[in-house]
Amino acid sequence: MNIATKKVDVTKEAAALLEKMGVAKELYTGGDMPSYSPVTGEKIGNLKTVSAAEAAAKIEKAHEAFKAWRLVPAPKRGELIRLLGEELRAFKADLGRLVSIEAGKITSEGLGEVQEMIDICDFAVGLSRQLYGLTIATERPGHRMMETWHPLGVVGVISAFNFPVAVWSWNTALALVCGNSVVWKPSEKTPLTALASQAIFERALARFGDAPEGLSQVLIGDRTVGEVLVDNPKVPLVSATGSTRMGRDVGPRLAKRFARAILELGGNNAGIVCPSADLDMALRAIAFGAMGTAGQRCTTMRRLFVHESVYDQLVPRLKKAYGSVSVGNPLESTALVGPLVDKAAFDSMQKAIGEAKTHGGTVTGGERVELGYDNGYYAKPALVEMPKQAGPVLEETFAPILYVMKYSDFDAVVADHNAVAAGLSSSIFTRDMQESERFLAVDGSDCGIANVNIGTSGAEIGGAFGGEKETGGGRESGSDSWKAYMRRATNTVNYSKALPLAQGVSFDIE
Ligand code: NAD
Repeated sequence: MNIATKKVDVTKEAAALLEKMGVAKELYTGGDMPSYSPVTGEKIGNLKTVSAAEAAAKIEKAHEAFKAWRLVPAPKRGELIRLLGEELRAFKADLGRLVSIEAGKITSEGLGEVQEMIDICDFAVGLSRQLYGLTIATERPGHRMMETWHPLGVVGVISAFNFPVAVWSWNTALALVCGNSVVWKPSEKTPLTALASQAIFERALARFGDAPEGLSQVLIGDRTVGEVLVDNPKVPLVSATGSTRMGRDVGPRLAKRFARAILELGGNNAGIVCPSADLDMALRAIAFGAMGTAGQRCTTMRRLFVHESVYDQLVPRLKKAYGSVSVGNPLESTALVGPLVDKAAFDSMQKAIGEAKTHGGTVTGGERVELGYDNGYYAKPALVEMPKQAGPVLEETFAPILYVMKYSDFDAVVADHNAVAAGLSSSIFTRDMQESERFLAVDGSDCGIANVNIGTSGAEIGGAFGGEKETGGGRESGSDSWKAYMRRATNTVNYSKALPLAQGVSFDIE
């Protein structure tokens, strides 16, 4: 079902939302960098990009802010994030709507993204009283050894279009309670939501009172501005979210100057449906995981392995779901699938589908859905039955394509599951304990996220988020991810009157 709707004035609505959230008009009009809404393809803003010199000045300011902020006790720093959470609650509907306008997400997913921001604020407030270091047994009498976690410096954040605001908050909430300052280079495809987030942050700052100026700043621009952040020696950590191509450039540049990296890159996530699976549950999880956010999540399910004994029960139902899913304007309808971000995304989807056909794929869906917008690119999600894992199945195409393959042997399917370059998210659908444990075991899924009877997407902020191999190895959000935002000092204190050396070394001088 395709939901055609009346034309909405996205430009006007974006401007009204920005004004309500406190963004000055001159920040998004009359500049040199356009922002477009994927919903209609229309231009919704013209932002001014920063020059390299302006970016460097902002980083310098953030460095000065860090020097003051690191001295503020961590629970007090947590108070700023508590206020940010309050402001985000107050503006949830507005920011969520702007996410829908600028990133094309359906209403519940736009709101869900802001909820994630609120959730990480709650997490970080608690964390601000739990930046624990260990006390460690020493081998020397009259000594104490401990770990102290200190703030790191300016944290650079580079983010992708598909989570235009949540990724900033995951990094910023942790970075700030850890005593750092933040400089954010949002995606050039979603700069308006970045301005809105910054305005909301500034409301929290105003309520907080005496925070140093420049504690969290935004750099508007394309990848060249990102490169300024990556190469600046005053930025000891860059958390970069985006394609593996971006990570291949950013990772070595950071390594060259011995800076830290949190790389959150592409995924090629798979599900395995075993003979004992609850097929109703699997169907819903696969449908959301593969078609949700129009296939534009890093954790989108892109490959599906179905056991031969249940293939004919599950796959026809899946095809039916693909045939009936609603595709439409997310601002004016209850469609479940919104637009692709731009023409390039649509073209790459078509290219991958074409290549899949040359590898023997049978395609359901995938065609453009016309809603009357020349520059709005809507597509039917594609389900592609493949004889084996080959060609485009091995790569991430950032669009709603699910490659479905039949399997017969558990060990072989785990090997196929792992035989791709990315290693972000994975899931198995089974009621067989041995299968589920084997999937989670050391020789099971090689991904950073491995789920049982849940799809690949929709992680909670409480867990560490990230993946292995070409996904980059970074972890952000929950668990002990905060440690990447701090530097660890090991302290040994001698409260005895002797000076015993470690490892029994003697070095007696007269
Ligand atoms: P992209 O790589 O085109 O851009 C991401 C960001 O990196 C943008 O802000 C861009 O300006 C910047 N950038 C690009 N090249 C750069 C360089 N050489 N130096 C510095 N900055 C640079 O990605 P996109 O199209 O916006 O997002 C989609 C991709 O992001 C997909 O591959 C998706 O899987 C991935 N993603 C990963 C995660 C994760 O947590 N693993 C989350 C969201 C998106």
